[in-house]
Amino acid sequence: MTQKKGIIIGAGPAGLTAAYELLEKTDIKPIIYEISNEIGGISRTIKYKGYRMDIGGHRFFSKSDTVMNWWLKIMPLERVEEPDLTITYQNQTREITNLAGQPQASKDEDLVMLVRNRKSRIFYLRKFFDYPLKLGKQTLINMGLVRTLRVLFSYLKVRLYPLPEEKNLEHFFINRFGKILYLTFFKSYTEKVWGIPCSEISAEWGAQRIKGLSISKAIQHIIKGFVGDTSSSIKQKNVETSLIERFLYPKLGPGQLWEEVARQIQERGGEIHFNSPVKKLHTDGDRITSIEIYNTETGLGEYVEGDFFFSTMPIKDLIRGLEPEVPSEVKAVSEGLIYRDFITVGLLVEKLIIKDEAQGEKLIKDNWIYVQEADVMLGRIQIFNNWSLSLVKDTSKVWLGLEYFCYENDELWQKTEEDMAQFAIDELVKIGFIEKTSDVLDYTVVKVPKTYPAYFGTYDQFYKVRNYLDRYENLYLIGRNGMHRYNNQDHSMLTAITSVENIRHGIKDKSNIWQVNVENEYHEEVQGTKEKVSKIDALVETAKQFVIYILTGGIATVVDVTIFALLVQSGLSYVTALFSSFIFGVSTNFFLTRSLVFGVYWRNWSAQYAVFILISLNSLFANLGLLKLFIDDWGWNAIIARIASAACVAFISFSVHKWYTFSPHNRLLALNLQRTAVNPKKI
Ligand SMILES: Cc1cc2nc3c(=O)[nH]c(=O)nc-3n(C[C@H](O)[C@H](O)[C@H](O)COP(=O)(O)OP(=O)(O)OC[C@H]3O[C@@H](n4cnc5c(N)ncnc54)[C@H](O)[C@@H]3O)c2cc1C
Repeated sequence: MTQKKGIIIGAGPAGLTAAYELLEKTDIKPIIYEISNEIGGISRTIKYKGYRMDIGGHRFFSKSDTVMNWWLKIMPLERVEEPDLTITYQNQTREITNLAGQPQASKDEDLVMLVRNRKSRIFYLRKFFDYPLKLGKQTLINMGLVRTLRVLFSYLKVRLYPLPEEKNLEHFFINRFGKILYLTFFKSYTEKVWGIPCSEISAEWGAQRIKGLSISKAIQHIIKGFVGDTSSSIKQKNVETSLIERFLYPKLGPGQLWEEVARQIQERGGEIHFNSPVKKLHTDGDRITSIEIYNTETGLGEYVEGDFFFSTMPIKDLIRGLEPEVPSEVKAVSEGLIYRDFITVGLLVEKLIIKDEAQGEKLIKDNWIYVQEADVMLGRIQIFNNWSLSLVKDTSKVWLGLEYFCYENDELWQKTEEDMAQFAIDELVKIGFIEKTSDVLDYTVVKVPKTYPAYFGTYDQFYKVRNYLDRYENLYLIGRNGMHRYNNQDHSMLTAITSVENIRHGIKDKSNIWQVNVENEYHEEVQGTKEKVSKIDALVETAKQFVIYILTGGIATVVDVTIFALLVQSGLSYVTALFSSFIFGVSTNFFLTRSLVFGVYWRNWSAQYAVFILISLNSLFANLGLLKLFIDDWGWNAIIARIASAACVAFISFSVHKWYTFSPHNRLLALNLQRTAVNPKKI
């Protein structure tokens, strides 16, 4: 019997993972066709005169056990001083040896993963701001009193009166951070990345990129930082992606890992063909039958038949290459898909003149810096010395990556290498990182097309393309451009892993592949464990909500009692004072509970407020009833009875509010608008 063939388009993380998984779990032979002569796609490492450059600065972290294990199986952790080094993620702490089933360090001392402490800041007003934003002393000094107050007021305003509908990314940001913070720290950088106003970008991008990060989350993180919770582990699952503190990094850059994967694939009988752009895909009914390649070295074309086809090439190119041609409606959507392109300028400089006061003359410690300044086009600066010194041939120099986002038809993209380098150098001088052009010792410019699949253009009709392509039962769209999804390496890998699993188990439906990077929790193999973890998570979450509910109730009581005392002192009758102070107290309670505990907003806030008051009044009667029971019927001491009744009523009112007033699933009146609160993932 002839061996089945898995044809894979592209030797990036998704394609290589598919090949590796086919070898690992099936009898299917993987054959990769790659347009370039390099391994790793966007995750490759650029090599320049002994220096290495990472396109974009790739952090290796994942919420998925499968991916973490996968990486560490290919490249073990570096040998470190502490003999008992453990790595913690998904609430599990394991010895490295157990984690990957590998010895602690590789025989090849370069083939290792480093553990990097993340440091990245925002550069704005020619000053550094912590990222994620810390509302600490330095931020306040940098922003100044007036701006700080404006930030606070606009944040409070949006907590009380959120925008009812998040129609675009601007709404998404404003609802989470307030307008001023959005204008200060998010607008300019995001618009540099996408090249259009935030108001024209789908809110879905924010949901994917800034999953659940909110000010309240940032505040929790700061507090955890104070108690030392984030310093000693690579904690994944319960840390929002944008707050992760430690990550893995291949010693010689991300491409090193993928080059090793490619080596193993070839060693085990898989094939990788370079300089082989896939130009056409031939179909017969619901199946892909063959692909057509044009070898750019030999100038020869070739037909290759296969049983399964994995595509990581941009969907637009795939649709263009399908034979027979696709329906015009699908083609129109695919032609309207937009990609943002990327230029990275590697600069070797003598030194940076920008310093951290606390560190004196030393190089600043950032891995990367977001440049929020609107007077330069520069988007981000990578300091490769701080990713891995092995990327830097002469470590007495500073090896930088200056990142620009643009379109292929932009003036920037059209610049010659020399002009582009000079442009980047001028901007670096302008923002005060280096003094003059002659501080730059060498440069290289790399243009990378289609780095960011955009969530605008015809993206809102993307489902038409997806539905059309999913009908080909042996075609698997995987990875980033392959799915037109803002997928990181781990997501890209998981789409490949899920596809191979589907083939193994004869699953034709592709929806589990599309679910990767959509749901909050990735699909893991052991469903039972997942359910157990989710239930525990939900319980912990409810307990947290309850504690904050009691605290907000306490604040409301203080407000109530203070106003009551003031009113009585000013000569008002007890009854009038009680009525007025109750209104203040219960209103405080309502707003705090809504924004800090549950984060669920009805479109009609007054209806939600009325329901809240009704339930609060009921609590009064419940208290009376319980007191009667405890004191009159059971003969308890009055104080103990009062404490017990307060506890019972707190619990009952919390439950009723959770299940009704602030339930994210309350469809009775179809009034709910969900917002992020304590743990946005859970609502
Ligand atoms: C600036 C930036 C920063 C990033 N940072 C991170 C990070 O910190 N952590 C992280 O995990 N991820 C990060 N990513 C994402 C990561 O780079 C991608 O998720 C990953 O590379 C996608 O893998 P892929 O295989 O789907 O696609 P690609 O890496 O794009 O690989 C696709 C491959 O297909 C080839 N190809 C295209 N067309 C054809 C064709 N017609 N025929 C044959 N071959 C073809 C390409 O040459 C390429 O090699 C970042 C990306 C960018 C742009």
